[in-house]
Amino acid sequence: MKDERLFRLYKLHKVDARLIDIKNRAEHLDLGKKEAAFAKKLQEENADALARHKDLKSEIEELKVKNEQTEGKIAKFNKDLYDGTIVSAKEVENLQKEIAMLEDLAISNALRIEELENELAPLSQSVKTVMAQVEELKKRIVKKRADAEVLHKELQAAFKETGAQRGPLESEVEPELITVYNQVRKKTGGTGMALVTEAKRCAACGIDIPEKVRDAIQSGRTQQCESCRRILFIHKEAEE
Ligand SMILES: [Zn+2]
Repeated sequence: MKDERLFRLYKLHKVDARLIDIKNRAEHLDLGKKEAAFAKKLQEENADALARHKDLKSEIEELKVKNEQTEGKIAKFNKDLYDGTIVSAKEVENLQKEIAMLEDLAISNALRIEELENELAPLSQSVKTVMAQVEELKKRIVKKRADAEVLHKELQAAFKETGAQRGPLESEVEPELITVYNQVRKKTGGTGMALVTEAKRCAACGIDIPEKVRDAIQSGRTQQCESCRRILFIHKEAEE
C-alpha cells in the first residue's frame, strides 16, 4: 500500500537532503589548504638554509658594490698620479700609499667574496630545490582556488534551483506533518524524515526500528524514530 501522505513528505525530504548536500559541498571546497600547509612546513624546515642563503647573497652583493667603488678610486688616483696634475713629491707619496692600501682592501674583499661564494654554491642548490617545490605548491593552490570558485558558483546555482522546488512540495504536505518535520529539522540540522533501511534501522541515526513501529508505519500511522525523532518512512512500501 502506497502511503501518499508520507510519500509527499518524502519528496520534500529528498529536496532538503539535496540542499544539505549542496551546502556541505560548498563548505568543504578544496582551497589547497593541504598544499599551503606543506609549503609552510617546507619553508620552516629549511628556514636556516633559506636565511643563510639570503644573508650570503646580500653580503656578497654589498662587497661587490664596495669593490667597484674601491676599483673606481684606484683608477682615479692612478690617473691623477700619471697625468701630471700632482707634482709635489709628498703628494705623490701619499697618493701611492693610498693606492696601495686600496689595492690591499680590494684583494681582501675579493678573497672574502670567493669564500662566501664557495659557501653559497651548495646552499643555492638546495634552496633552489625547496623554492621550486614551494612554487609548484603555490601554483597548485592557485589552480585549486580557481576550480573551487567555479564549483562554488555551480553549487550556488544548484542550491537556488533546488530550493525553488521546496515551496510547491511543502504546500502538498499536510500541516501536522510539516510541523513535526520542521521541528525535527530545526533540532537535527538535517531533514525531518528518515528511511527505514533493509536492515530495519533508522537510516539517519542507525537505531533498530521495532516491528510494531514498522507495522504502524505500514498501516499509515505517523511514527517518529525513538532516538532522532525523524518521521520514519519505508521507501519500498511507498514505491510498490
Ligand atoms: Zn533515527
